[in-house]
Amino acid sequence: MAVSQVGFYGHVRQYFNIKEEIDANIESVLLSGKYVRGPMLAAFEEQAAEYFGSKYAIGVGNGTDAIWLTLMALGIGEGDEVITHPNTFFATAEAIWIVGATAVFVDCDPKTKCIDPNLIEAAVTDKTKAIIPVHLYGQCADMPAIAKVAERHGLAVIEDNAQGIDGAGDTFKQGEFSDAVCTSYIIQKNLGCFGDGGMVFTDREDLNETIRKLGNHGSAARDHHSPGFNSRLDDIQAGVLSAKMKHITAWTDQRIAIARLYDAGLAGCRHIDLPYAKPGYRHVYHLYVVETKNPAKRDALLSFLKENGIDAKTHYSIAIHRQEGFPWGKSYRIVGEVANAEKNAASCVSLPMFPELLPEEIQYVIDKVREWDAAQG
Ligand SMILES: *Cc1c(COP(=O)(O)O)cnc(C)c1O
Repeated sequence: MAVSQVGFYGHVRQYFNIKEEIDANIESVLLSGKYVRGPMLAAFEEQAAEYFGSKYAIGVGNGTDAIWLTLMALGIGEGDEVITHPNTFFATAEAIWIVGATAVFVDCDPKTKCIDPNLIEAAVTDKTKAIIPVHLYGQCADMPAIAKVAERHGLAVIEDNAQGIDGAGDTFKQGEFSDAVCTSYIIQKNLGCFGDGGMVFTDREDLNETIRKLGNHGSAARDHHSPGFNSRLDDIQAGVLSAKMKHITAWTDQRIAIARLYDAGLAGCRHIDLPYAKPGYRHVYHLYVVETKNPAKRDALLSFLKENGIDAKTHYSIAIHRQEGFPWGKSYRIVGEVANAEKNAASCVSLPMFPELLPEEIQYVIDKVREWDAAQG
């Protein structure tokens, strides 16, 4: 059958592929009668820590909570500064705002779109407490270089790994050069549950203890040691994730294979730049983002794809410091021009990217992008 529509997500296809495993886990939770802080969560936390190679894995309510709970557990708040970059999902900066700290933005690297480690040092003041690199689109940030700056200035490093699960650098693993790695398990991420969910991976016992308490009303077992919050990964979601985690490596490999097909099929296009994958790094292609060489043509490409039944999107068409209302009554700082981040916002188009894409769908996307590109002269 000729393809005329390509969606952006394959959630239901993925569910059908491993329905029995997921259903069995959900049913076992339902029959256990333990739905919050139960044995399925404990088992999944253990499985996740082992998979990730961290001492601790803490299930929390969502990826945003994972970041701000970590900031709070590090004692970061009012009067402190946290460095990140402005071409990321809103939540990275929101987490900084939630704890009352000031977001400080430096530009991204023009190729990887991750934070440019060379720009961090100039943004450090005596108020700086942490750096939050984002593994944007699934490309790991340059953690060894970031860690060097952090070490020189005594800063904490929190990896925003919402888009980068299963990724790695050529010489390092996630978590090796940071205090904590925060991920999101919302369905559109590479490893997603059927609702909201998040996790903090860390080797630090103090962070494990404090984040657990903060997310559970300040309580470790029964007594309340401090005021806290309610941010927990429930057992049904843990069961879904436990089943899915067994497939994450294969799914990532599939994403990479699709990226190579896009790369080959779109090679030679004159009006778009293809995503850069740092040699040797395991880019997990949470998103496959092309950029129109001329930012003024971005919306035209997006409309053309949509008119042809392809659900392309933009990640993210407005840099955080340009979002309406930001910084919500707080001060923030931009260090330098952030021109690469602005260019990215103006020219990005995300093509459909999920492991269950069919070969004919991939080809259809390639054909339509090429058709648009050829029409530009
Ligand atoms: C999705 C995402 C988050 C937030 O995760 P939620 O689970 O939606 O709260 C944070 N940072 C980045 C880069 C994300 O993509």
